[in-house]
Amino acid sequence: MSKSKNPIEDFVFSLSDDQFQLLIDSVDKRKDKEMYGFTSLEEAAFKYGRKPVCPHCGSINYIMNGHTPSYRKRYRCLDCDCSYTLLSDSIFNSSKISFHKLTKYIQLMTFNVPLKECMEILEITSNTANLWRKKIFQTVNDYQNNLILKDRVWLDETYIEDYKILGSDYKEKRLRGLSRTKICIVVAIDSYRNMIAIICGHGKPSSTRIYKTVKNHIEPNSTIIHDGEKAHNKLIQELHLKSEVYKADCKDDNYLNHMALINNMCGWIKRYIWRFIGMDVDNLQSYLNWYVYLLRCQRDNNKWKKNERILRHLLLERTRYTRK
Ligand SMILES: [Zn+2]
Repeated sequence: MSKSKNPIEDFVFSLSDDQFQLLIDSVDKRKDKEMYGFTSLEEAAFKYGRKPVCPHCGSINYIMNGHTPSYRKRYRCLDCDCSYTLLSDSIFNSSKISFHKLTKYIQLMTFNVPLKECMEILEITSNTANLWRKKIFQTVNDYQNNLILKDRVWLDETYIEDYKILGSDYKEKRLRGLSRTKICIVVAIDSYRNMIAIICGHGKPSSTRIYKTVKNHIEPNSTIIHDGEKAHNKLIQELHLKSEVYKADCKDDNYLNHMALINNMCGWIKRYIWRFIGMDVDNLQSYLNWYVYLLRCQRDNNKWKKNERILRHLLLERTRYTRK
């Protein structure tokens, strides 16, 4: 039994390369329209409630002033006379990436797909892939600043190698124990699944270092559940925390049960970071911010569709990407 022939197949095969590309673009647009309800970044920003605000003086008084060469609406500020678009003050300021590629890129980032794979799947250059990762990271740079954990808070440190310090003679420099070549990451999570993951320098941290890193992220008088590490003392003292200690012992069920949550968290973070081996450690905190942000999105997934929530976040942010 033969399947009946697809009636537009011959038509598609008869197209020239240019025509075929146009067809692909149209198909992508239609898919976007069905999935998100819009086909351009400007349209999406507008529907998500982004308002035209002058990026120079902050005024909201404007008149319409034609459009840009890429067909974005142009506004003219009535207070300082400058021209701007809805997305001037965003990471999409001068971007040429299409709505379709961007939403696909976000999708890959939510699965933490490494850059090389993103390049191949989306057929973009390494520059583009890199630039967009940095732009997206920039919108979550301050994300952890306002996170405060409370009531029951599990806390621990995890360590990853700093390949930058190790350099080429990696094996020779490798020392036993917690050497200065390891980056310390403080991880904490509370009973509401709020979480932080913040770099706390190299090697084993002092009491002061832990205190400085975490002090603004735990509500005073909470209970801290930890391994009794001495370096936590200052934090406990200054924030008047109740301390619940489970000594690290992998044969002790009591320890394993009570610390499972934080142990898992540290394990997940390590595996997450390992996926990006070879990344610039200067970006490590950005990767951690993104991880914490994603976890939050997943936690609230029943309220918001994850990809749409991220897209909305990117489009409503008022932060321009600045090259470092
Ligand atoms: Zn202005």
